[in-house]
Amino acid sequence: MSSNEIKQEIYNLVDLLNKYSYKYYVEDISEITDTQYDLLYKKLEKLEEDFPELILKNSPTQRVGDVTLSEFSKVRHTTPMLSLSNTFSKEELKDFDNRIKSTLNIKYLTYICELKIDGLAVSITYKNGDLVSAATRGDGTIGEDVTENIKTIFSIPKELNSKVDIEVRGEVYLPRKSFEILNKKRLENKEPVFANPRNAASGSIRQLDSKITAQRKLSAFIYSMVNSNESTQEDNLINSKKYGLPVNENYKICNNINEVIEYIEYWDKNKANLPYDIDGIVIKVNDVSYQEKLGYTQKSPKWATSFKFPEEELATKLLDIELSVGRTGVVTPVAILEPLTISGSTVSKATLHNKDVIEELEICIGDTVVVKKAGEIIPKITKVIKELRLPNSKPYKFPDYCPSCNSKLIWEKENPFVKCENFDCKEQTIKKIIHFASRDALNIEGLGDKQIISLYENKIISGIIDLYSLNKENLLNMDRMGEKSATNLLNSIENSKISSLDKVIYALGILNVGKKAANIIAKKYENLTNLKEAKLEELIELEDIGHITALSVIEFLSYKKNTDLIDNLIEIGINPTHLHQDKKENIFTNKVVVLTGKLTKLTRNESKSYLENFGAKVTSSVTSKTDYLICGEKTGSKLEKANELNIKILTEEDFINIMKG
Ligand code: NAD
Repeated sequence: MSSNEIKQEIYNLVDLLNKYSYKYYVEDISEITDTQYDLLYKKLEKLEEDFPELILKNSPTQRVGDVTLSEFSKVRHTTPMLSLSNTFSKEELKDFDNRIKSTLNIKYLTYICELKIDGLAVSITYKNGDLVSAATRGDGTIGEDVTENIKTIFSIPKELNSKVDIEVRGEVYLPRKSFEILNKKRLENKEPVFANPRNAASGSIRQLDSKITAQRKLSAFIYSMVNSNESTQEDNLINSKKYGLPVNENYKICNNINEVIEYIEYWDKNKANLPYDIDGIVIKVNDVSYQEKLGYTQKSPKWATSFKFPEEELATKLLDIELSVGRTGVVTPVAILEPLTISGSTVSKATLHNKDVIEELEICIGDTVVVKKAGEIIPKITKVIKELRLPNSKPYKFPDYCPSCNSKLIWEKENPFVKCENFDCKEQTIKKIIHFASRDALNIEGLGDKQIISLYENKIISGIIDLYSLNKENLLNMDRMGEKSATNLLNSIENSKISSLDKVIYALGILNVGKKAANIIAKKYENLTNLKEAKLEELIELEDIGHITALSVIEFLSYKKNTDLIDNLIEIGINPTHLHQDKKENIFTNKVVVLTGKLTKLTRNESKSYLENFGAKVTSSVTSKTDYLICGEKTGSKLEKANELNIKILTEEDFINIMKG
């Protein structure tokens, strides 16, 4: 690059960062994400480091924050309010550690790690123990007087436990719950919503009317007393707390940089459980005498740094779009990605939800896309970077035919989901069987996805009901299926016949009917025969069953193949009755129970339902994990085994007595 080009690049970066910075600090608007801002900032810092003669006076690297708003009275800080240097990787942290140790000429150093609360910095002054003034950080030298607004924050004491003169620094933030409520209200009032709790906190504290601030339910943590006499940062926090100031308790003393990294990793994984946002960890040298030796740059202390958590959003290439047919026939587009690592895990697929999302994104194969991984939810594509699109790319067109059975796909107006309505569609049928056998449905142990696909492809089964006519010979023909596994699988298929009604309803795989809805429907209809006659009006009346779910049930029952399935299930003995018991605890709660022999007063279904209702796990064979064996008439080897293993044995009568309470 020529020197003119470098000059131009620096000029452009300064201009761009200043534009974003003004929006961020003055208008509380984030036009780009913090990570994107930090990347551009790092680029500028590097250029300035290599060409210090080109540093511009108005560069964001030369100042803290941005201008202050004119409506507030200005306050000059007695001690500057600085920013923090940033680190983004373990390597950068280790460099920071080495740099400090080499400056101090020491081998070992103790750090204190604190959560980096994502809010805005304030300085609060107490005179004789009373809160007298408070200011924002502003440009680090001059801030805005927000005393009245700070006084509305419940967690900040108006009076300390001691009649001292102190100035404290801390972070005002908006708890996530308050943020949600605030944005909900703003939506209702057709006001623009805040992009994140930080912007909302900043906007709330800088309100000219403190009554508005009071409504926003802000909170605060204090992280230091200025010019106090403590010899460590930890003591500074302990004494702040003694004065009655809100101190975040999650800080930790770390005896080396590896312990710092462990702390960071812990909070990166657990930050979502906090009721407020953190954007990183602040790492400070604990010993104040060392802090004094290390000193400050124009912008930040040299004895501290912040580690910024990586944002769980990254860009990659869209290689293909695959279509997946679900058990209800809905065809979901799945993005196949050039693999990337987000928060420690490799991502190679992301959901594109439905045709509306595809159309909205105007996505083309080969596009560079932004992938977001939010918690444990399946990653999704949030943005297409159109500027990086390859020439001659054509927007992806959703096919008209099912990728599994080639029947014409159904597109309904106003409905973003595309459906394959062919009952015999291979992928749909396999997914239905997988769902039926899954743990939350009939829990057929030993019947995984692979076995189901193999049974289907070998034409041994063609639907759910065929599972119940499987025999050992069929199973032994399958790959990796031995005598023992075949016997166990046949046992668990047989055992699945005594499932409770809610599980059977859930297993039917009705669109929109999850475990909770299945339970409500089971309570209402009591058995499968009644369920077949369900009416829309009745379903709508049920608490927690919405109109869409009710319609899905009615639609499901309107197909003869579905009611035939229910009839077939009843015929082979899957016909449970719902038991009216309010769930409570008894000796069976969280215990493993086995039923054996012929019960005379109760059916197996009723007994199993009852036990499961009380939170017991009902299994088919007696093992050392079994807690109770309930015996009917003509018991066999299970009773012997239970005696051998010293397991508690109950007769049917004992069981009924416990049931009666
Ligand atoms: P910063 O937020 O990265 O770090 C310094 C601040 O951390 C301190 O002022 C303090 O308020 C806070 N903090 C929280 N907990 C603390 C603790 N326990 N101990 C000490 N301090 C603690 O720095 P900054 O100068 O306030 O802001 C710069 C950052 O703002 C950038 O790195 C960028 O991420 C973001 N930014 C984003 C945009 C955008 O458009 N998205 C624009 C400008 C700045």
